[in-house]
Amino acid sequence: MTTVLYLAGAGRSGSTLLASILGQSPSVVDVGELWKIWRVMGEPGRRCGCGAELVDCPFWRSVAEASPGVLEADPELLATMARIGRARGSGGLWAQLRLGRSGTEAYADRLRRLYEAIVEVSSARVIIDSSKMPGPAMVVESMDALDVRVLHLTRDPRAVAASWTNRKDDPNGAHHLEAREPGAVARAWMTRALATETLVRAGADAYRRESYERFATEPEVVVDEVLAFIGEPAGSPAFVGPSTVLLEATHSTGGNPGRFERQERIVSLDDRWRGELDPGARRTVERITTPMRQIYGYR
Ligand SMILES: [Zn+2]
Repeated sequence: MTTVLYLAGAGRSGSTLLASILGQSPSVVDVGELWKIWRVMGEPGRRCGCGAELVDCPFWRSVAEASPGVLEADPELLATMARIGRARGSGGLWAQLRLGRSGTEAYADRLRRLYEAIVEVSSARVIIDSSKMPGPAMVVESMDALDVRVLHLTRDPRAVAASWTNRKDDPNGAHHLEAREPGAVARAWMTRALATETLVRAGADAYRRESYERFATEPEVVVDEVLAFIGEPAGSPAFVGPSTVLLEATHSTGGNPGRFERQERIVSLDDRWRGELDPGARRTVERITTPMRQIYGYR
């Protein structure tokens, strides 16, 4: 049975880097944010983690050959995808899935075929899907043919808000992540944390919560723990020093532009928010994210 490690949580929580590190293990494949691949495939200039344009990437071409039609988008698929993406906090989609009335069967079937084709092409046993959002997680969990493990990455919402105030430019492609207002980031953080705790956790074959802060402070320890969580041996080949990684290209489809970086990099805690976030924005974020923030230990 194929294992899918679904990375859940807010954006800017270190998921792109963690997925890339995990993807260096021989039986693990990092494919990025898979849930929306049908939309991004059609966007001109959209690049794969390997640097090639997505439509030209040899890996994704092989996947399309292994399962003809699996990457072709149609209006119905795109509409279902948009609906799944909007299911951020409400239990509506969760209840519909439990009752078998979600109308997402065609989408789920396509995603299952895509997972199968990825396994065939990569020979991997574990797929890292860093889609992060709760809606797609609920759909993935409903697939009986998969062993679904959810790793919920948390990060201090004040750091996430500060991170979103800086636009991140993509050095190799036309796409970048736009800046977002702290209050909106805080509300999204809260909604996603609650949905992941209450809806996603309930359906996962296995669930684990980990903080960005701990990952950034002791990366090798955390990576070994996550490898154990997905049934892989300890000792990621990514590490060339206790906190230094050398990452080979993965075929991740969308995520933080950091995924294009090829050089040796040091995994370290980014807590610049303490100096960057102005007091008003900080108070706004703290007010909106209480009490989940305190439950996670972000005092
Ligand atoms: Zn690629």
